Amino acid sequence: MENCIFCKIIAGEIPSATVYEDDDVKAILDVNPAARGHVIVLPKKHASDVFSIPDEDLSKAICVAKKIAIAVKEAYKCDGVNILQNNGEAAGQTVFHLHIHVIPRFEGDTISVKWKQGEMPADLDVIADEIKACMK
Ligand code: 5GP
Ligand code: ZN
Repeated sequence: MENCIFCKIIAGEIPSATVYEDDDVKAILDVNPAARGHVIVLPKKHASDVFSIPDEDLSKAICVAKKIAIAVKEAYKCDGVNILQNNGEAAGQTVFHLHIHVIPRFEGDTISVKWKQGEMPADLDVIADEIKACMK
């Protein structure tokens, strides 16, 4: 994809600190990390987001994210790891080539990926039906 920064990184046109690479997936250090060891996992075939990526490509990327999570846990002896993936500007996506964040976490760190929990909806069944009606 022209003008996709991650496609350029995958093609080697822009340098990156690579921690893992195979035929389908590349994992690199995030240049503006939330924590030391923050990695982003990139499927090599361009897809902007979860709405357009083939299952097979996403499956390979999430398996690599798992490998990276295990590695950063050992490397940094962190207390936890977030595996996150943003879709759409409203959800915080800034680079429109699907990627999975792997972020080492420590008790009491100041990284914010938490939301204020809402009240339990009275119509949980209705909500479940709304979603099920759109499931393909
Ligand atoms: P998003 O906000 O789309 O979920 O995440 C995009 C991530 O890509 C951000 O965490 C940002 O720091 C990272 N990023 C943006 N440009 C580059 C780049 O040129 N190289 C690397 N390694 N990371 C980048
Ligand atoms: Zn791309």
